[in-house]
Amino acid sequence: MSNIRFSALRETVNRKPVEVFDTERKSESFGKNVFNEHSMRQFMTKEAYESVMNAIEFGTKIDRATANQVAAGMKDWALSKGATHYTHWFQPLTGATAEKHDAFFETIGNGRAMEKFAGGELVQQEPDASSFPNGGIRNTFEARGYTAWDPTSPAFIYGTTLCIPTVFVAYTGEALDNKAPLLRALQAVDNAATAVCKYFDKNVTKVNASLGWEQEYFLIDSALAASRPDINLTGRTLLGHSPAKGQQLDDHYFGSIPNRVMSFMRDLEQESILLGIPVKTRHNEVAPNQFELAPIYEEANLAVDHNSLLMDVMEKVAEKHGFRVLFHEKPFAGINGSGKHNNWSLSTNTGVNLLSPGKTPMKNLQFLTFFVNTIKAVHDYEELIRASIASASNDHRLGANEAPPAIISVFIGSQLSSVLDELENVTKGKLSPEEKTDLKLNIVGKIPEILLDNTDRNRTSPFAFTGNKFELRAVGSWANCAGPMTTLNTIIAKQLKDFKVEVDALINTKGLKKDEAIFNVLREYIKASKKIRFEGNGYGEEWEKEAVKRGLSNNKTTPEALKAKISKKAIDLHEEMGVMNKVEVEARHEIELEEYILRIQIEGRVLGDIARNHVIPTAVKYQNTLIENVSGLKNIFGDNFRKHAKEQIDLIEKISEHIAGINSKIEAMVEERRKANKLTGQKAADAYCNKVKPYFDQIRYHSDKLEMMVDDELWPLAKYRELLFTR
Ligand code: ADP
Ligand code: MG
Repeated sequence: MSNIRFSALRETVNRKPVEVFDTERKSESFGKNVFNEHSMRQFMTKEAYESVMNAIEFGTKIDRATANQVAAGMKDWALSKGATHYTHWFQPLTGATAEKHDAFFETIGNGRAMEKFAGGELVQQEPDASSFPNGGIRNTFEARGYTAWDPTSPAFIYGTTLCIPTVFVAYTGEALDNKAPLLRALQAVDNAATAVCKYFDKNVTKVNASLGWEQEYFLIDSALAASRPDINLTGRTLLGHSPAKGQQLDDHYFGSIPNRVMSFMRDLEQESILLGIPVKTRHNEVAPNQFELAPIYEEANLAVDHNSLLMDVMEKVAEKHGFRVLFHEKPFAGINGSGKHNNWSLSTNTGVNLLSPGKTPMKNLQFLTFFVNTIKAVHDYEELIRASIASASNDHRLGANEAPPAIISVFIGSQLSSVLDELENVTKGKLSPEEKTDLKLNIVGKIPEILLDNTDRNRTSPFAFTGNKFELRAVGSWANCAGPMTTLNTIIAKQLKDFKVEVDALINTKGLKKDEAIFNVLREYIKASKKIRFEGNGYGEEWEKEAVKRGLSNNKTTPEALKAKISKKAIDLHEEMGVMNKVEVEARHEIELEEYILRIQIEGRVLGDIARNHVIPTAVKYQNTLIENVSGLKNIFGDNFRKHAKEQIDLIEKISEHIAGINSKIEAMVEERRKANKLTGQKAADAYCNKVKPYFDQIRYHSDKLEMMVDDELWPLAKYRELLFTR
């Protein structure tokens, strides 16, 4: 039988770029397949249009009669675009997206049929969802869940299907998805931030959280990927010797994008633009075959949907171009991994970015208020942020020898650090007129100038201020942004709510003026949250030691990190902010632990299988060739053969050692798995993490040694150099 690796390589080498035609300007095709304001105006009654706009802006309810009108308009629009089916599009707790397609087509008797889609079908559906993870919610409570239309994220057409973004909830009200808690968190941060904004501008009636994600990924030829069971089943390579040429040369970053990749990207961008995903930048990343795509930022809920949708679209477009997309955070050992920076900010309906300094001292006091409150929130809930980005695959970045570290800290740059240092010295209680003037002119007033030349960039910080937004860099490339965005916005909401209470108390009981009260509270926050601020190298060992001294957490593994999700503090927080109740929090924790266990379990099995079924037989085959060679030499040279067969005999011995190494480690790993499988929950996750997983590297060690010894012609698995440098 021919070697699958070589047939894959032949296929790869013969591939041509798929031709992609740019038909229109981007501005013309943007959002063409989205039921956006423009198409709503065109296809809906004025009444229906206004009611949807109100629902988007103020969260008002849409009654059934109006829903019927909306559905009718949506259907007409979709049919005019050639859609034949519709689906409620939702994000179950698997982290992926799910859909269940129904045809518009319905028979109406007398052998006739028509296209139908009523308000009821738009507003609510019951997917056959018993197979989605629910963390015991539906076992304990009600057996069924339903999907409900989310009017704040517009419907879109993908292929020939009208996709309607929805939340997925149990009949008892518990959220069964990622979107429902996110929407509640965004509502909470809107309420809390709007209330704080009133100190500065009474006209503010709504605050939106914004998100701009940067998606990193690898592209691998699909035939080569298919030759690797590990990539197919786990999304990463479990074996493979480093290539002679790695990223040492650093020649990939912003390098030229090869033709096949370029046509993939153009195709992807066209698809994204039609779907209203405002993709903007594309470039090569640090590692070979690693790339990044970033859109213009959007309102957080929409941005989260767009990221999930993009990941789906990417896989489909990649297939067309003979590529496999790898979203795994660490597909290749020894090569840079992938992340998904989440750029986050808050902005008002009056068009002000609350994390961007303004032109007047008052605007800057507003900026400082939101800036300091954000730092304080991250300080108070650093462990929860760490938990929100925990996954088996992201553990390869966080807490391993890669960026960013598992320790959450905030970087703000030296200039803003000195502003905060000065604010720490603000007098307690009432301020003298001189001090007020000094604050206004020399400290708060100087902020815009400071930021202009604030070119400070710290790439090692997991949470960095970058001029007019914070950037959460620790999110994994495979993750659904909903998790970290729910956590971040919830803790900010809580923080702003507390801030308002404290400021009001100073105004009402101590008779302080508004800005005096704000300065007073900020001063205390700056002091209290000092330990979360770190401007140094986040990768260094010194930081780990320093972080211990400061009492910051350093949860290197998912089973460790996830504990923070079900602490009393976390449950209280989510309940207080109306984001999730205890059951919902615990259910998610259970699902995430379960997912961790499953992933490591699958990796262990796949690794055992490949090592036994691919690696060992190949090594034995090669060893047999060597043995034949040695016995041939013996025939020729008689007793003197050893002189001529020394290297071969050496190799034969080494191969035997590594085969034995693989076998004994697999046996030990299987034994640990057996033990782990008798456990449940935290204990099972701990066992998989601490007892099973350590064998992966040991098995890999022997296999990678064999890869270097065995004749290249025999090796069945695509090698790193082929996966990473073949385009
Ligand atoms: P980087 O140096 O990390 O590449 P960029 O300046 O290119 O940073 O911006 C990165 C991302 O930040 C982009 O996706 C952009 O849309 C997003 N971004 C910019 N402003 C905001 C904001 N106010 N809120 C959220 N995201 C933002
Ligand atoms: Mg970035």
